[in-house]
Amino acid sequence: MSKKVRHVLGISGGKDSAALAIYMKQRYPQLDMEYYYCDTGKELDATYELIAKLENYLGKKIINLNGAEGSTEDPFDHFYHLYGGYLPSSNARWCTRKLKLEPFEAFVGDDPVVSYVGIRGDEDREGYISRKANIQSVFPFRKNIWSEDVIAKALKNDNISAVSEAYSFLFGDNLDKRTYELIQQPVSARFTVQQKLQLLLDRGIKEFNAVVFELLKLTRYPLALEQSFPLLDNEDNLNRDDIFRILRDSGVGVPDYYEKKAFEVDGKKGEYARSRSGCYFCFFQQKIEWVWLYEQHPDMFAKAMEYENGKEGFTWSQTESLEELIQPERIAAIKKEYLNRNSKTKISSPYLLDILDDEESEGCAACFI
Ligand code: SF4
Repeated sequence: MSKKVRHVLGISGGKDSAALAIYMKQRYPQLDMEYYYCDTGKELDATYELIAKLENYLGKKIINLNGAEGSTEDPFDHFYHLYGGYLPSSNARWCTRKLKLEPFEAFVGDDPVVSYVGIRGDEDREGYISRKANIQSVFPFRKNIWSEDVIAKALKNDNISAVSEAYSFLFGDNLDKRTYELIQQPVSARFTVQQKLQLLLDRGIKEFNAVVFELLKLTRYPLALEQSFPLLDNEDNLNRDDIFRILRDSGVGVPDYYEKKAFEVDGKKGEYARSRSGCYFCFFQQKIEWVWLYEQHPDMFAKAMEYENGKEGFTWSQTESLEELIQPERIAAIKKEYLNRNSKTKISSPYLLDILDDEESEGCAACFI
């Protein structure tokens, strides 16, 4: 007997995954969703508060996947000591592997799993959580709900006749001439998979989803085991505003680290916030976010500094130590540089988080979505 497909949703502590959990409960209550969270032990209090509120709203436990089960230390500290006091960095990201990916892969084992990921419709990133064959990622907030690998397989030139047959089988005479032409047009350097995808989605999202689902039946993807999939009818394309609306309307609310705080430098006024969830000392954060941490959560900043004393020459930020970063003239310079960047970006965007979010995509899908 084939295994039952599991549906899982990882809560990172960030706004998008939290909103996705709420959205899935509202839109697809028929899916027996398993919610999980990989605790590093080093999150901001607002993240733990968000998890508690979400559990209350969802009426379900959010399973805590502890990468250092049985250890007397926090998961992060357990591996930090195991790795001889070497801080993780963007080039040596043992933290994501040990604290997020491995606990998640142990949690799903060999079961066929559909993993729901909160990448928004206004983002240009993929956000794989895992590349294991039994884990299939789906993106409900995007017009294209399918992962990059599924689309690459579906739209490769070798597959044109299979796509054509699937459209004909499902829609027969209702298939219009333009859609038929698009299906037949091979991808090339001048007509990319992305272009073909967008044009086919423009012809009909539900129709395209039904065709992909039909094609998946011939594969080993987890959804090949399902008779139906309610997201085939999903035509939503949600952006940042929608995410904040979902969080506020549900009563769960927005984690307070996203709320802007005022600052002043050389008589100029500005606002800052934190753009991401994850560890308070995360090396992906921007200089202005370190300044925010120092001024808004000095106790946590002090703890982050203690880690830098552990191993000679290891700092969270590549270019300077935290001690150097909090010198008054350095803080002023960071704030001024941030205000300059902010004023340029404001021309095209009204959102503070657009400036901070720019670098969010460099981070880790497991930590920040
Ligand atoms: S938030 Fe940053 S420091 Fe924490 S596990 Fe993720 S990448 Fe590592």
